[in-house]
Amino acid sequence: MSTAFDDLLSRLRQPETAMTLLDDWNRLQTVVIEEILALQAIPAPTFEEKERAAYTETRFRQVGLDSVGTDTVGNVYARLPGKAPSLPAVLVSAHLDTVFPRETDLTIRRDEAHGRIYGPGIGDNCAGLAALICLASRMVKNGYRPPGDIWWVATVGEEGLGDLRGIREAVARLRDKLGVAVIIEGTGLGTVYNAGLGVKRLKVTIDGPGGHSWHRRESPSAIHQLVTLGAALVTGVDLSGRPARSLNIGIIEGGTSINTRAAHAQMGIDLRSVDANALLGLEKQVRAIIDQHAHEPALSLGTSVVSDRPSATLSPDHPLVLAALGAIDAFGFPSATLSRGSTDANITLHTRIPSVCIGITTGGKAHTTDEYIDIDPVATGMKQLSLLTLLACDHVSDWRNWQEQADNYQEDLERP
Ligand SMILES: [Zn+2]
Repeated sequence: MSTAFDDLLSRLRQPETAMTLLDDWNRLQTVVIEEILALQAIPAPTFEEKERAAYTETRFRQVGLDSVGTDTVGNVYARLPGKAPSLPAVLVSAHLDTVFPRETDLTIRRDEAHGRIYGPGIGDNCAGLAALICLASRMVKNGYRPPGDIWWVATVGEEGLGDLRGIREAVARLRDKLGVAVIIEGTGLGTVYNAGLGVKRLKVTIDGPGGHSWHRRESPSAIHQLVTLGAALVTGVDLSGRPARSLNIGIIEGGTSINTRAAHAQMGIDLRSVDANALLGLEKQVRAIIDQHAHEPALSLGTSVVSDRPSATLSPDHPLVLAALGAIDAFGFPSATLSRGSTDANITLHTRIPSVCIGITTGGKAHTTDEYIDIDPVATGMKQLSLLTLLACDHVSDWRNWQEQADNYQEDLERP
């Protein structure tokens, strides 16, 4: 093995536990694949995760974890008790939900020649959730007792308009106990996410009297007002400078017929930045322009927040980040990179819990019905996750200290 591996191993209190666990994944890769396929066959659209959550709860009980249960939003929890419960705990979590509606055909397809399996949701996030169940299972079977507790959480509401509600609730419940967090996504092996991309989504609605397009031609139109406002936003909001920001009017709806002055119109605005203050400033600009357009007496204008994903960046020098990079490096991905994404880690990072999000295998076409995972890298992904989790457990008392990256923002693309 590499010197990177020896170095990491020397920092473990129970290196023999790590050797057993790492060795397991050479034999047990098919077990992980079977778990991925079992999860993938259960539909789990955002807000309808119940069946997959119930399956996960059963698996947590079967593998012999403690404190198995759910909460009001539908998350599933389990605990591997540590030797000293007063020590801070390590959170290992993966999201349950997929972007696919219930009626989606979930039939899988194997491509033996390329070592791939295709299926909606197979990577995002059945592979991540299976990794969580399988690692917990092996730790119990091998009799591993961590220094502090490990909390295993399968979260709801990570995708789309779920607005990260699962991880928000989990962090609210466990905040006082948690030291660090490892978030698992199915694909993206070789990338370590140490930063969240901040996203805020606003809905603007305009309502008025409506009327015939000729007989009531003096009547104010909700659509006319909305497009005037839209134009003012597109031309008036300043997006120059660093850190980067973006504004997108992604949805416009309204009106009933071409010869009716619209009584209703609405639009969805998506705002993004890598920096929490920059995002706040952007939202302020947008709201000021909206306010300037709210004075038409016969029209009522309303603004609501439909999604709020706060951001924060954990310093690339934080030991958790270095360990995640080191662990993937040790197993043959020397070009591991840091990136930022829009995942459950946004919430843990924003709460100042040192966190990374890592992948289990490689794959592609996430969020499409052509989604696939590569089979071979799964063993490597499990080794990285195992080593990182063991290191996090041993060093949680030191690693729990937050280190913010204040400048030099990485402006990478968002995770798909
Ligand atoms: Zn995901």
